[in-house]
Amino acid sequence: MPDFREVYEQVGKMAETRRDVWQDDAFSLAQALMGEVQELQDQLQESAVTGEAMPVGLELADVLNYALRLCHCMGFDPVDLLVMKNDRNSRKFPDFLMSKNGRTPQEAITAAKKSWKAMGGDIAWSHAYTEHLVHEAGED
Ligand SMILES: [Mg+2]
Repeated sequence: MPDFREVYEQVGKMAETRRDVWQDDAFSLAQALMGEVQELQDQLQESAVTGEAMPVGLELADVLNYALRLCHCMGFDPVDLLVMKNDRNSRKFPDFLMSKNGRTPQEAITAAKKSWKAMGGDIAWSHAYTEHLVHEAGED
């Protein structure tokens, strides 16, 4: 069973092989991704009636494939992207703010967003994250 990075490379090789047939520009891939998300949503509704999970899994695989092809197209490493985004989201929506503590979910989210903005938001986070990467790479 290949690991995630091997699957990512397979998707890239397949896109390269089919370059003459597939439209692999970012906008075409994003459009196709949205179409697959709609198919996933349709299949989830059908699955609620039929109880069959596999058709949902097949549509989810289509979504993942297009997302990986878009990563290839844009030169992003999908694992790096997920690590980076999860870092940002865990800081923007920390557990201590996301516990309801008598608040509605929307009130908890609003409190987290207000706190994030007060800390400098995405700009401050991106500077800190970049410094972290430089430090980790031993370039400072
Ligand atoms: Mg599909």
